[in-house]
Amino acid sequence: MKQTVMVAGGAGYIGSHMVQQLLDEDYDVVVADNLSTGHQKAINPAARFYEGDTRDKQFLQQVFQKEDITAVIHMDAFSIVPESVKDPLKYFDNNVIGMIALLEAMRDQDIKYLIFSSTAAAFGNPQKTPIPDDAPKDPINPYGDSKLMMEKIMKWVDQAYGIKYVALRYFNAAGAMADGSMGEDHTPETHLIPIVLKTAIGQQATLQIYGDDYNTPDGTNVRDYVHILDLAKAHILALKYLIAGNPSDIFNLGSSTGFSVKEIVEAARKVTGKEIPAKIAPRRDGDPDILVADSSRARKILGWQPQYDNIHDIVQTAWTWKQKHPNGYND
Ligand code: UDP
Repeated sequence: MKQTVMVAGGAGYIGSHMVQQLLDEDYDVVVADNLSTGHQKAINPAARFYEGDTRDKQFLQQVFQKEDITAVIHMDAFSIVPESVKDPLKYFDNNVIGMIALLEAMRDQDIKYLIFSSTAAAFGNPQKTPIPDDAPKDPINPYGDSKLMMEKIMKWVDQAYGIKYVALRYFNAAGAMADGSMGEDHTPETHLIPIVLKTAIGQQATLQIYGDDYNTPDGTNVRDYVHILDLAKAHILALKYLIAGNPSDIFNLGSSTGFSVKEIVEAARKVTGKEIPAKIAPRRDGDPDILVADSSRARKILGWQPQYDNIHDIVQTAWTWKQKHPNGYND
């Protein structure tokens, strides 16, 4: 019999690709999403969609009573670093309170497996790079701290009630379905690659590079970009790992290669053949210099093997999506 998996936040960028991947691997899929930032059109209609908020325990209980759910994939946290700096309570409310309600409802319904989207922002400014899974955690923004709190809550909840979890600390999720049928569509868009491509297609005149005085080779921030489908695959491996009876764990997910903002712009110029005007702007709040993952444990223990191993291919998928859907899911 097929296992039923609930994706909380399944209408979002990462969630919608997760739903697709689960369906492709023959899981039965339920989506819970309040559509505050996601798109109903992004959810494959083969998944059963419930509109509601993860902070609403009653809503979750109703879904859990109706559906025979084996595992939950939690992807519905807020995730914009500068917004979290300006409005931390919004982040602690949605992210931390949402996690508590979800775990209460899972405990009450005896749902034993949870895969959680965590983040590289949990590390803050790392002491060494690439960052191993067990590096010290010292977030420099409320977003990263909210996710670290969520990880800690899961740890104690596992000990007390036996809800097993895998937290996957993503570095920078990027790219789209290769055929351009699904992709990234945020309002407002704050992420680098979609903004670069907006500039390439002429929806904005100039890209702003937020600071060129960081402690990096070219002065711009270095990030580790991972393709969205590789991320989704890691969740399925994590699910299999837990269902096989393995203990809760936390893994970094990155390509282990860093690219600076300027290098991303160069890659996008090559992919698109467009000029992409760019100018240096002031630093953005909450940005660490360099975030690059050491993902060796995810590769070894989960058997994760990312398929997209170069930035050109990742940007190419995002560009295909952008050309087919210049206004995202509104097209
Ligand atoms: N960035 C930039 N201009 C933009 C958007 C982002 O220079 O218009 C930089 C940002 O400062 C960071 C990197 O691009 O160093 C990646 O930012 P993004 O928001 O995509 O992801 P984050 O690393 O914050 O999760």
